[in-house]
Amino acid sequence: MRLQGAGVSEGIGIGFAYVLQEHAIDVSKKDAGPEEGYRFSKAAEALSRILGERAAAVDKERAEILESHIMLLRDPVLLSDVEKMITDERCNGEYAVNAVFEAYAELFRQSGDELLSMRADDMRDIKNNLLAVMNGYALPDLSVLPKDSILTAEELTTSAAACIDEALVNGFVAAKGGTTSHMAIIARSMGLPAVVGVGGIAHGDRLIINGGTGEIIVNPSQAELAEYRSLMEGRRRERQALEKYRGMPTETSDGRQVELYANIGLEADILKASQADADGVGLFRTEFLFMNRSAAPSEEEQFAVYKKAALAFGKRPVIIRTLDIGGDKEIPYLGLEKEENPFLGWRAIRYCADREELFAAQLRAILRASAFGTIKIMLPMIADLRELRYARSLIRRLCGELAAQGIAFGQNIAVGIMVETPAAALLAGAFAKEADFFSIGTNDLTQYVMAVDRGNQKVAKLYSAYNPAVLRLIYHVSQEARRHNIPCGICGEAGSDPLLTRFFVGCGISELSMASACVLEIRSIIRQTAYADAKAMIDASVEQLADVEDSMALLQGLESGQPLRTSPLGQTNRQVISSPGSWS
Ligand code: PEP
Ligand code: MG
Repeated sequence: MRLQGAGVSEGIGIGFAYVLQEHAIDVSKKDAGPEEGYRFSKAAEALSRILGERAAAVDKERAEILESHIMLLRDPVLLSDVEKMITDERCNGEYAVNAVFEAYAELFRQSGDELLSMRADDMRDIKNNLLAVMNGYALPDLSVLPKDSILTAEELTTSAAACIDEALVNGFVAAKGGTTSHMAIIARSMGLPAVVGVGGIAHGDRLIINGGTGEIIVNPSQAELAEYRSLMEGRRRERQALEKYRGMPTETSDGRQVELYANIGLEADILKASQADADGVGLFRTEFLFMNRSAAPSEEEQFAVYKKAALAFGKRPVIIRTLDIGGDKEIPYLGLEKEENPFLGWRAIRYCADREELFAAQLRAILRASAFGTIKIMLPMIADLRELRYARSLIRRLCGELAAQGIAFGQNIAVGIMVETPAAALLAGAFAKEADFFSIGTNDLTQYVMAVDRGNQKVAKLYSAYNPAVLRLIYHVSQEARRHNIPCGICGEAGSDPLLTRFFVGCGISELSMASACVLEIRSIIRQTAYADAKAMIDASVEQLADVEDSMALLQGLESGQPLRTSPLGQTNRQVISSPGSWS
């Protein structure tokens, strides 16, 4: 039987459904005495202790989730709300716990905000655990699952997911949840596939789940098992074959060096990136540090994370991008109102410039961390030279203050910009005189050049980095960077697209930044690329590219080493191939 859900974490998982049982606990109102208050507070204490023990046994990121539950269990307002109801209404603890926690959950849910709705999930999660403890049920211990489990639940709670031993689990299925649910975030950080929107799976069912397509095969046939095992095996072999590139220099066949960097977001990515054989971090998306919490991280908190990244990479650079919120990245407590055109609105540097205190705290944290490694600062969404000048002057002022306070920071920290607006790309020559480096954000550059919302499926066929308008701008930016002798990298998703690698190298791009898992594959392509040939081919044809098929012909020409030939009619001789932006 095949079921269709939504894939929220990539990969294929084969295993047996381990269905998490929910206890049916009676929460109806009953007459009871004041001893119920004592029973409730004892249960809250016991649950805090259990969660505390589990938090001590898992990594920091997961421990934080459990600790946030412990904090709520110790919240005096919440505790007294339950105790007051027990006393005032002379009712049983189960009734009061259910009523109070549900009321809070409902409040969060009604906010209409996705992140606050996650808080509602947390309230329900704590409530269910409390009710279980009050009734003497053991909490499921997911660190002792049978091997090859596919964890299946109506809703996989965060406290449960945070305790999982990844060596025993091959994936997740939940009836409820979305891409930003904690479960999806945890699955992605574990590198495990996850599908949501599918229920009714029985304990012990054999499952194949595809976290990319959202497909689930229940009790697959031998043929289906064989097909998916060979798919997994194929991927495993591809990854293994690339291992020979680990430790090799990233240079073209004619000796040009290219740096390969990792993109990171969560604190846990630092370790993965430092083990991925990357030459550094090309994009640290710091907005992730601001998500899933109720207030901005302090300067000290940020400093600790940036310092950790700086120490992990030592001499290798860590490019920290300042807060890029707005657009599709909402953070409720930052006071971003709904806008008509969020991608064109109060976003990134525009927001930070108006919230200087917040911006300065982040910059101070970055500057202080720069004393421990090779940190560079990168400014997102720059469209006007005044934005760069403002940020640079603020950084200068902060350096002065740190020096006056005798606080250490790295000298001459590089300040670069993301080139992701058409304005910055077209004015690259002017920006190159005042920025220490460029990093082209192809995700946004494509969106803004093509006037296509990067998240809108209805217009997705226009969203292609292969469009000549995008490729020609990238070429222009790289030429201006070279003319002014500053490094120019790529840090959007195109940076890990193997079909574009030779194009970037031939343009003279000096750094490509990507998900850690892609580093070895891109290195293998660069080592098979002749820079001089790629450059000659691009210089000769890039200005003539008119449509996506022209681009594809150039990219294929770079792959095969066969230059495009021009027909007597002046048309390029191109192979007709299907392109990702095709209109079919
Ligand atoms: C980009 O726009 O290409 C980029 C790397 O930034 P983000 O995807 O975070 O907007
Ligand atoms: Mg961007």
